[in-house]
Amino acid sequence: MKLVAGKQTDPGRVRDGNEDGFVVRDDLGLFAVADGMGGHVAGEVASATALEALRAAVLSGVPIREAITRANDAVIERAGDDDSLRGMGTTMTAGTLAAGDTFLVGHVGDSRAYLMRDGELAQVTEDHSLVEEMVRGGDLTPEQAEVHPQRSVITRALGIEPGVEVDVYTVELHEGDRLLLCSDGLTGMVRTDDIAGILQREPDPQKAANQLVEAANAAGGEDNITVLVIDVIADDGAGPARRAAAADDGEGDGEGDGEAEEPDEAPEPRGERRRFTAIRRVGRVLLWVLPVVLVIALAFGAVGWYARRTYFVEIDRGRVTVFKGVPGGLLGWDPTLEERTDISSADLNEAQRGRVERDTRFSSRDDVDAFIANLEEEVAATTTTTTTTTTTTVPPPPVVPPAAP
Ligand code: MN
Repeated sequence: MKLVAGKQTDPGRVRDGNEDGFVVRDDLGLFAVADGMGGHVAGEVASATALEALRAAVLSGVPIREAITRANDAVIERAGDDDSLRGMGTTMTAGTLAAGDTFLVGHVGDSRAYLMRDGELAQVTEDHSLVEEMVRGGDLTPEQAEVHPQRSVITRALGIEPGVEVDVYTVELHEGDRLLLCSDGLTGMVRTDDIAGILQREPDPQKAANQLVEAANAAGGEDNITVLVIDVIADDGAGPARRAAAADDGEGDGEGDGEAEEPDEAPEPRGERRRFTAIRRVGRVLLWVLPVVLVIALAFGAVGWYARRTYFVEIDRGRVTVFKGVPGGLLGWDPTLEERTDISSADLNEAQRGRVERDTRFSSRDDVDAFIANLEEEVAATTTTTTTTTTTTVPPPPVVPPAAP
């Protein structure tokens, strides 16, 4: 079995440059699309750099996941060389024909791989995009996602940080299968049903690729469009269609000589530029969220600390009792019993009871102890006074009559 590809890339009808790129290497069994992003020519550089590193890695026998990891490193390294390229990134959806009839698809970003088998089109890859995550989380329907204003915001890309997570899908190929690799300039403009219709009707992969690009342009062509249509055919060449077996070495990188730079606050940021800022935004959101979380944690800790270091007294089970914490608790910090004194509530007069029940907070154990000691003293004095009073009211002892002589 072998793979024969039709390929097409186009800047679309709105953008000046083409930041998409692709690699078709029948001889290596390697097929990839990349959709770059960044200001000036950075997007083109990102996709071209990633594709070149991927090709070199696959050529030297590196498996797909590692090959894409190397592509990621290459983009990061290239960006580090040049201030004007800083922050550039690219998607990557790359398939390699592995042992047997296994097609391995490595994937980062929102370019896509589809498989058409027996006339049914199925999406192989899952987008790393904001709306896709919202769909998975049940916050959006797939229909809402298709028209969502932030549908081009991606959450994973090459060139952003080392150690990017690469999804790898395995497809067991059958003769007659047709694979589609494409950038979001196709899927963002043409409904899946219409894509399927073209793939079903047009047997020639190159013509099918051309028609898909035409359909995206007819729908507005708002983004760069890249399409690979790959047919799985028997080694004897019997397949839905045949193209010249000459090793296609086409590496699209788009002709673009740099898109017109848009100001950062452009009222209507277009495709790539917006995707680029979106990626940066993910970083910025983290930078913003982290301090907020820290502040909340600190505030919570401070409240806890306050709640845990204050004391109050209360009459509990008939006795003056010392609690640690604040009356009623605070943000889940419940007061704990610290000490039940020997002072019975019955021993307190009105004023003393009032002081105990006034909810006075004490900022240290020493302060509570002083309060308790003071109270104890007063209670003792009152009791003594009472005793004294009692004593004084006790009639004087009877005079012992003088003993008789
Ligand atoms: Mn795009």
